[in-house]
Amino acid sequence: MYILEHYNKWDASGIGTNLSQLLDDLANEAPSYIDIEYNDIVIGWVRWGSNNGMAYLDGHYAVCAEAPDVWYWPNWQDDIAVQHEMSHLFGAQDTVESCGNCNDECIMDYWYAWQGYAHWEWYHRSIIDDNIWRQ
Ligand SMILES: [Zn+2]
Repeated sequence: MYILEHYNKWDASGIGTNLSQLLDDLANEAPSYIDIEYNDIVIGWVRWGSNNGMAYLDGHYAVCAEAPDVWYWPNWQDDIAVQHEMSHLFGAQDTVESCGNCNDECIMDYWYAWQGYAHWEWYHRSIIDDNIWRQ
């Protein structure tokens, strides 16, 4: 595994705070900056989002927000938001979409993410491990 970091800016002007639209915009623009293959991931950061983040499941792109722009959505710590979204990139679904398999304190559960839990229970850990080492 090679760990390589590359920083750049992405122009999200005119998109607003809708994370689904921001994610699509990032995915459409990022390939012009870098070649995406294997486990390469691209994380876009925005100041405000419709919640804490969004990612393509088992994909390459995610967007995280410094803070939600709606009063009813709790603001997760930034490191928790990026770990949660990166987990989606490696195939982990949210707890509510995991058919009861995620049944312990887990970062894929919105409640525990909000509380700052930075770990996965066995089910999500095994999904992520399998996907990280797959080519
Ligand atoms: Zn889990």
